[in-house]
Amino acid sequence: MQLANHLLLQQRSFFQSGKTRSLEFRLEQLRKLERMIRTNEEKILAALHQDLRKPKAEAWASEIALVLEEIAVMTKNLKAWSKSSRLPIPLALQPASARIYPDPYGQVLIMAPWNYPFQLLLSPAVGAIAAGNVVTLKPSEFAMNTSQLIGELFQDTFAPEYLMVIEGGVEVNRQLLAHRFDYIFFTGSPQVGRLVMSAAAPHLTPVTLELGGKSPCIVDRSVDLKTAGRRIAWGKFYNTGQTCVAPDYLLVHKSVRQELLHSLVDAIESFYGKDPKTSPDYGRIINHRHFDRLINYLKDGEVLYGGQFDSHQLYISPTLIVQPVRDSALMTEESFGPLLPVLEYEHLREALEVIERAPHPLALYLFSNDKKIQDTVMSSVAFGGGCLNDCVVQLGASSIPFGGVGASGMGRYHGKTSFDTFTHFKPILKRATWSDPQFRYPPYKDHLKYFKFFLD
Ligand code: NAD
Repeated sequence: MQLANHLLLQQRSFFQSGKTRSLEFRLEQLRKLERMIRTNEEKILAALHQDLRKPKAEAWASEIALVLEEIAVMTKNLKAWSKSSRLPIPLALQPASARIYPDPYGQVLIMAPWNYPFQLLLSPAVGAIAAGNVVTLKPSEFAMNTSQLIGELFQDTFAPEYLMVIEGGVEVNRQLLAHRFDYIFFTGSPQVGRLVMSAAAPHLTPVTLELGGKSPCIVDRSVDLKTAGRRIAWGKFYNTGQTCVAPDYLLVHKSVRQELLHSLVDAIESFYGKDPKTSPDYGRIINHRHFDRLINYLKDGEVLYGGQFDSHQLYISPTLIVQPVRDSALMTEESFGPLLPVLEYEHLREALEVIERAPHPLALYLFSNDKKIQDTVMSSVAFGGGCLNDCVVQLGASSIPFGGVGASGMGRYHGKTSFDTFTHFKPILKRATWSDPQFRYPPYKDHLKYFKFFLD
């Protein structure tokens, strides 16, 4: 960490040199990043395959395309977003003008988890670069191959005093968090999120926390169940269920439960065949710790479909669990794997009570064509963001801000919100000196009447 400390100090001086502030510099770095990704696309896909056996199509769409989209949106709009803008001034402060200036925070730390190890590190990095910061990137040690590749690619492309990657485990994270950064952007579990926030507190460093949670998916009786089944199965088993916004559990109206279960099974088999272990489109669990955690959940309900596993291959088949035990680990911890517990409800109120008993989720999905139900759910439940009649795809547009609320996080990013996240908007009031009325200054005597005239 000696070396990193030295580099962290160099980063600060590089920021203070002012080089990162110019629009041309920032655009050039974004173009460099884009070239780096495009040139190394095959290597990135190979590393993701080694770490999580990600199918190429999924890896490209969710890891590479999303970052390229962020770069495209940023380069297209950066000039406009970087301009200062005028603010209105009340009569009491006239003659004057006021403007708000976008200003980079300075030295930014971005820490990412292992499930989308490329995208979750680089998407926020695009925002931090665009806003004019110097950046330290900390990939997850669990996606080892991707972490190593990212380290190499950045070392070959960027000077470390501007953009550097620091690899390592918990100890490296702790040491990094002891440093005074100007902004910390963390994606990971709520448990580590708390540690990050307490490490930021002594320095009063602002944080964005992109955390997880149990994202519910409600299926009402007013929908096409075939489509609902396909969309839910896709969202749940994409990346083997290791997606922060995957539907964690289903709440299905009693009258359509059987039909939905059939539709889910049909969808699973049409995606991955009868034996998903042999499917090139079905991934693996990241490591033995998570594999064991998931296997342990199987006892917390009745396995209706799937439930096969192979520890040598870190394989767990797409699994549907009915009658999950209410306070079991399966129903209280984020499952973060290919196990889908299914609960039923008769009145919407019962479903909402289940959701409200738990901390605010990162996402919520509702399959319903009933406007009244849509309005009730959207307006009465707190959650980060979500979809009506689909799941997970809300992440596909950079125009849609992404982030949690309460236990699922704070702050948001993607597109313009990424630029804003890494920017301090600095307002400045400019006063004229030709007018300086005496009533502002003591002794106030009868000045109250002027104050009332201008301020009331
Ligand atoms: P994690 O919290 O264990 O790790 C995230 C990062 O924190 C990694 O870089 C890791 O090295 C570091 N870390 C781990 N333990 C630490 C400690 N004690 N001190 C300091 N740093 C530490 O999360 P994970 O297992 O990598 O990812 C899974 C979690 O991330 C799930 O809860 C999931 O919902 C969440 N997640 C959220 C989003 C989102 O965008 N909101 C996206 C993906 C994953």
